[in-house]
Amino acid sequence: MKLKSPVGTRDIVAPESWIWAKVIAEFSRNCGNAGYDWLLTPIFEDTQVFQRAVGGSTDIVQKEMYDFQDKSGRNFSLRPEETASVVRSFIEHRPAVLPWKVHYWGPMFRYERPQAGRYRQFYQLGIEALGVEDPSIDVEVISILWDFLVELGITSMTLRINSLGDALCRENYLESLHNFLLTKQTSLCDAHRDRISENPQRVLDCKTQQCIEATRGAPEHYLFLCDPCRDHFEAVKEQLGAMGIPFVHDPRLVRGLDYYTRTTFEISSGILEGAQNALGGGGRYDGLVEEMGGPPTPAIGFSIGLERLVSALGFDSASKVTLTYSEKIPQIFVVDLAQRGPANLLFRELRRNNMRVMCEYGRRSAKAQFRSADRSQASIAIIVGQEEADRQCVVVRPLKHKEILLPLIESYGKSNEDANMQGLKASDQIPGFQLQSGQAEIGIDKVVGLLNSVLLPALPTSRVANSTSVIGIGT
Ligand code: AMP
Repeated sequence: MKLKSPVGTRDIVAPESWIWAKVIAEFSRNCGNAGYDWLLTPIFEDTQVFQRAVGGSTDIVQKEMYDFQDKSGRNFSLRPEETASVVRSFIEHRPAVLPWKVHYWGPMFRYERPQAGRYRQFYQLGIEALGVEDPSIDVEVISILWDFLVELGITSMTLRINSLGDALCRENYLESLHNFLLTKQTSLCDAHRDRISENPQRVLDCKTQQCIEATRGAPEHYLFLCDPCRDHFEAVKEQLGAMGIPFVHDPRLVRGLDYYTRTTFEISSGILEGAQNALGGGGRYDGLVEEMGGPPTPAIGFSIGLERLVSALGFDSASKVTLTYSEKIPQIFVVDLAQRGPANLLFRELRRNNMRVMCEYGRRSAKAQFRSADRSQASIAIIVGQEEADRQCVVVRPLKHKEILLPLIESYGKSNEDANMQGLKASDQIPGFQLQSGQAEIGIDKVVGLLNSVLLPALPTSRVANSTSVIGIGT
């Protein structure tokens, strides 16, 4: 049997994986700046954590969870989302200081029908802020999401917001919506025709043309909001407006999870395809901590789908996340013609000095090693020959960009006067430096200096040609 990754999952391989690393690092930096600590929770939890938080009537809990029993018969589930785990963790640790602000990233699991932009194992980045009711935290959370996407260079985004009210005012609304849906029951899609009573709001979230048509003219939640919920929503809109963050009020935005209250929001990208165009979203879940056994605690958060985000970056010509030339390929290739000892030391010294370096293994011939060096696309070879090694020297040979690197190597060994004209420091002068036929012999203790101060800064750092093909989006 040919072994493959499970349906709906995929390996993230280089160079795309390097884009992921950059996005995650950038996200963590942004969140840390805003006081959101990094939280890691287990990728599996007691099944009840999700049943109670996400809601027993949701598609996620009913159809999509990866449930299993461990060897002692306990029921666990792979996490389908992170908010439930964050709330479980909050209740378990009872942080003394509020708000408790955290961010996370990691894999989530849902047994969905795989298609472009929809996986069974996918990754989310997100934040949660627990313990603040003030609308300004809603605005903080939404603006962190918005600004992060803008910073990455995502364009053509739409931010939709809505208020789902609280437990009290929602009841009246749900009753009115329910009555409306009963008059449209026969026109709803198969999945929702007989499920109106379970959660009428879910019908508004349905993407089928039948439900979209049938629910035109449905009562709007906004008209049913109680005064505190309405004031909260108005304050959020006003503050977002004052920050220059463009949004539309979408009365149909309900999102798929049961725990949302008051503010909900979603950002979609015009670049991604149809139904899978939501980059991320979130909202308030003011009742959830209490429902799960903790003290009454208002809370809000969002999550972003990493696959869709990277996909949007690949398609977006304004993307600011690309790999530079030197990130994609090694800068230096160490060719070892001596015993392994000096090459090992040199390799370690170079990588410790933050250089991207490669070598060959298995005592291969000089010819084979140079072939590998060419294939690696490294710009510079450092040759460790036995005779040179005995004299504590190595040979530096430009493989690519000879026209740039050779004059620099040449000037590195010249008189102080010439070197000064090239902007080199007097301390860079090397007695005994020898230049011959397109390469230079240099003391092993000086090679890092030559690379660091002269050769590597001269290498082109242009973007890798076409980011779409490089990161393999859509495959
Ligand atoms: P949700 O947790 O359902 O609110 O989803 C938040 C974000 O996670 C969505 O906007 C998507 O970007 C992403 N997402 C959700 N489900 C999937 C999936 N099955 N595959 C890929 N990304 C997903």
